Amino acid sequence: MKKLLLLLLVVPLTSFTISADSDVYICKSANAKKYHLVENCRGLSNCKALVGKVKLSEAKNQGKTICGWED
Ligand SMILES: [Zn+2]
Repeated sequence: MKKLLLLLLVVPLTSFTISADSDVYICKSANAKKYHLVENCRGLSNCKALVGKVKLSEAKNQGKTICGWED
């Protein structure tokens, strides 16, 4: 019973939908290879350059993959 309750709590948080048109955040540093779903992500706090908002499709075109903290 406890396990089921935990599952119900976790699923809505991790399965929210993002599309190619969604806004994501990237660090505009030359060696940044990730995109982030939230502006205050732990991964972005390491960014030494500007943080920019782009479309998901654009981030993917730049060869970026989803940040480990949100995967
Ligand atoms: Zn992130």
